[in-house]
Amino acid sequence: MRKKIVAGNWKMNNDLEAGYKLATEVNNIVKDEVTSNVEVVLCTPFIHLTGVSKLISGKVKLGAQNCYTKKSGAYTGEISVEMLKSAGVSYVILGHSERREYFGETNAMLAEKVNIVLEGGLKPIFCCGETLKQREDGIHFDLVRNQLTESLFHLSAEAFANVVIAYEPIWAIGTGVTATTEQAQEMHAILRKHIASKYGEGVANDTTIQYGGSCNPTNAPELFACPDIDGGLIGGASLEARKFIDVIKAIK
Ligand code: PEP
Repeated sequence: MRKKIVAGNWKMNNDLEAGYKLATEVNNIVKDEVTSNVEVVLCTPFIHLTGVSKLISGKVKLGAQNCYTKKSGAYTGEISVEMLKSAGVSYVILGHSERREYFGETNAMLAEKVNIVLEGGLKPIFCCGETLKQREDGIHFDLVRNQLTESLFHLSAEAFANVVIAYEPIWAIGTGVTATTEQAQEMHAILRKHIASKYGEGVANDTTIQYGGSCNPTNAPELFACPDIDGGLIGGASLEARKFIDVIKAIK
């Protein structure tokens, strides 16, 4: 049985005080109200990680939003996987479209980040997704399949088993426009088939594929009921405890 995971991507939001308050609220409400077997991940800015790790427990885990490809050394401003581990991190978001767009992250660079995260014993949440233009041009399936091929398919099946995929159509991120359940399910099924073609049905069936893109308490129940959607990567709605919890509770 594959794991259902709902991760909140705080992006560059919340000062320390606000972040600790949000993490505490989410942790408390998850404990009181969430009965399903879902894993909840808080992907905070780096400065919050150590503090938040002391405020969460049980189903709630800690995630980072990025890391560097090197183990240590003269890389001013970067953060290594060992540092993340020492802060209590379990997951690392890699290849978010904002990092691809604003920081020039390529599929090849992401393959290196995937390697270092897995070597360090953490789990990558690997983001993929197309722009509206790419969808309109009809190249979205090839493009997203290629993102997986180029950044992940060098992995052994054993290593790949630790990867979480997040399908995030770029046109749906932060826009209030969600993919329809048909569009999301269609892409998720295509990705699972692509994984099966490389690693076999067993690995593909066990792979968690999250949906991300303007997911909220209203649309989450329908999205999460799709057979190939195993939770969500949530941006805006993860910044308010009540909204985030209601998205989490959409997992049955
Ligand atoms: C995201 O940034 O990963 C995301 C899905 O954002 P939002 O939920 O705000 O669209």
